[in-house]
Amino acid sequence: MKAIYPDLKNKVILVTGGMRGIGKTLSLSLAAQGAHVVFNYRSDEAKAMAFKEELEAKGGKATGLQFDVTDYPAMTKALDEFTKNVSPISGLVNNAGISKDTLLLRLKPDEISQILDTNLKGSMLVTQALSRNFLKAENVSIVHVSSIVGLMGNVSQAAYAASKAGVIGFSKSVAKELASRNVRSNVICPGFIQTEMTEQLADKAKEEYSKSIPLARFGNTEEVAELTNFLLSQASSYITGEVIKIDGGLYI
Ligand code: NDP
Repeated sequence: MKAIYPDLKNKVILVTGGMRGIGKTLSLSLAAQGAHVVFNYRSDEAKAMAFKEELEAKGGKATGLQFDVTDYPAMTKALDEFTKNVSPISGLVNNAGISKDTLLLRLKPDEISQILDTNLKGSMLVTQALSRNFLKAENVSIVHVSSIVGLMGNVSQAAYAASKAGVIGFSKSVAKELASRNVRSNVICPGFIQTEMTEQLADKAKEEYSKSIPLARFGNTEEVAELTNFLLSQASSYITGEVIKIDGGLYI
């Protein structure tokens, strides 16, 4: 069952990493709500243009902006141009993220930087770049995509877990700092969700992980989109600074 949120119609929402995995489903589901979906892409312009058409065919408006969340000048330029020339942005999903699973002993300094720069610093800088614009927009809602691993830690994911735990502290600070401007900031913590990221796991590992999930299966991206739509909409107007797990009970 898919919930419809009338206030998402025409709402301008940036989904970082919105062309693949969880982000792609979020973009498509927001387009189906009639939102104007702004997504970023790193290099493949033809793919981005095709994705824009796919989103618009769902009923919403769509804009692709070319930037990498770790490229501060390109990111701020693209967002400044959009908010000045097109429209203020009133929804943000900090979804872009990477993981590199390896034991702490083998983790290279460059890999630590890459993970923190993308998952934590990238989310912070995109939020910061939009914060002046948020003061002009109405009913702003920010959703940060953290991970259950940011709450419970995990073997071979020390840097990833640290980046995702950092996002939680960041979101709570934003919630306090910008609440007086009617800006809400919440975190979702997915458990195992079927995407290319989890596709890399061996079948045996997937089986083992499923056994430790009370609902005994990986989640799907549509389930994550349902939660995100709720948090972006005014249906959640009194929820801010919250951390919501969507993990089939993995971390109870
Ligand atoms: P995918 O690897 O399928 O997609 C990641 C997306 O992020 C891609 O669109 C990718 O763009 C984009 N991205 C990565 N680095 C950058 C960057 N530097 N600048 C801009 N965009 C970037 O991942 P998922 O869909 O599985 O994950 C999405 C989010 O959910 C991540 O933050 C992840 O940590 C989190 N998560 C996922 C879980 C899962 O089980 N899948 C569980 C818990 C959390 P490009 O196509 O250009 O590479």
